[in-house]
Amino acid sequence: MEFKDFEFESYEKYYGEPEQVQKAIEFCPKCGTRFNISHLSDCGNLLLHETARCLACDYGSRRLIHLLH
Ligand SMILES: [Zn+2]
Repeated sequence: MEFKDFEFESYEKYYGEPEQVQKAIEFCPKCGTRFNISHLSDCGNLLLHETARCLACDYGSRRLIHLLH
């Protein structure tokens, strides 16, 4: 499985209402299919790794790192 570059979570690049932002995060920008999202928490570092993968096209995977404060 190949991952695209790590992306720190930033809502600034999303526009619109929270619902639209959520949609932009959860759906593949290429084909519009909902991502298959899995979470892996890293309590030691207070990080939450989120891997979003499109199963419908070759967009691949996107990783987000949530900072837990
Ligand atoms: Zn897709």
